[in-house]
Amino acid sequence: MAERTLLTNARVLTCSAGPDEQPAGADVLIEGDRVTRVAPRIEADSARTVDLRGATVLPGLGDAHVHLSWPLDFVFDHAAVAAADPGPHMLDVAAVTRTFLESGYTCVIGAGTTQPLDDLHAKDAIDRGLVPGPRIVPSGPMIAEVDGLGGDGEMMEVAATAEDLREIVARQCDLGVRALKLFISGDGVVPEFPSDDVYMNDEMLLAAVEEADRHGAFLTVHARGSASVAMAARTGVRIVHHACFLDDEAIKALEARRDDIWVCPGLHYLYAMVSGHAEPYGMTPGRIEAAGYPLELRSQIEGMRRLRESGIKMLSGGDFGHQWTRHGTYAAELQRYVELAGMSPVEAIHTATRNMGPATGLGIGQVREGFLADLLIVDGDPSTDVTVLLDPGRRRAVMKGGKFAYVNPEVYP
Ligand SMILES: [Zn+2]
Repeated sequence: MAERTLLTNARVLTCSAGPDEQPAGADVLIEGDRVTRVAPRIEADSARTVDLRGATVLPGLGDAHVHLSWPLDFVFDHAAVAAADPGPHMLDVAAVTRTFLESGYTCVIGAGTTQPLDDLHAKDAIDRGLVPGPRIVPSGPMIAEVDGLGGDGEMMEVAATAEDLREIVARQCDLGVRALKLFISGDGVVPEFPSDDVYMNDEMLLAAVEEADRHGAFLTVHARGSASVAMAARTGVRIVHHACFLDDEAIKALEARRDDIWVCPGLHYLYAMVSGHAEPYGMTPGRIEAAGYPLELRSQIEGMRRLRESGIKMLSGGDFGHQWTRHGTYAAELQRYVELAGMSPVEAIHTATRNMGPATGLGIGQVREGFLADLLIVDGDPSTDVTVLLDPGRRRAVMKGGKFAYVNPEVYP
């Protein structure tokens, strides 16, 4: 019989209900790696019983735009990370996976590696129990179009035709990559490649989607301008990162795919840049202005309002790992959704929980019978104050697959 654990005396935020859900008193029974019951006062004689003394239980969080390759002390020097000695570099990656887990994140979706196999090596070591970390939907090197951002091939793989792209996707998938990352727009931070630029074309993306599909993988894209977002939506891309500009055509294309496309804004990153948090690292006000980021931030906030009105689902994630968006502060993304984009705390939490289930194809994101027992246990009520999730001192424990994967040594001696 599977190992049984009974969590008692908990306040449970199931993330199975609407955006106005409040935590309710309940016990949670876990058998093997799954939740098998959530109800007041469960009797389970043979189960290991853990009294949570009134703490809140919610689904483990998920971040959908992750670069595990960026070390804890990353300073925007991608070339140095690419050239680093692979041995010590992998230990840096392991420190990052541990940081995600200890921050309450039990699942991450890769958004491109700097050393090619970083996500795959990390996933393998975590799955074998060698190092602590979240579930990983692994990415590989980012893929650029030959004339586009990244097309110099220094940091990315480069495709000129649909056949090239199909070959790259097939090769990455054969290695185990499941979240391909394509650059289909520019980025204001590199002025020669403005955000409105569109790279690749429908034929290339359709070929890439078809090839990924054959391997049980999916496409994610860097798409800042509205034309690139519309192209991603009509060709079958699953996750659209950034989507800073959205016109009617882009919204309509996204609406047509409401059930199998997710937008991952990365709002905190823009907010932090525009708010001067990156200034000590060379991102002067002049550079931020030249990047067009103040306009992008306003546009993204307006775009998120339109996405919510249109019922297009969002994910939480956003390039954490810069010194101005440090590893371990991942839930700041949820805080910005509440403070800037007008979401309720639970609506914001859904972008990191219940929306991650169908986006990853894993049975995660809800505290509910049949779901994987990936759980975050915190002091306080994140349904009224989402910043509770940012406070390391309030994190009591993290469970992954029904087992305690992190227990806060300051809380439980
Ligand atoms: Zn990124």
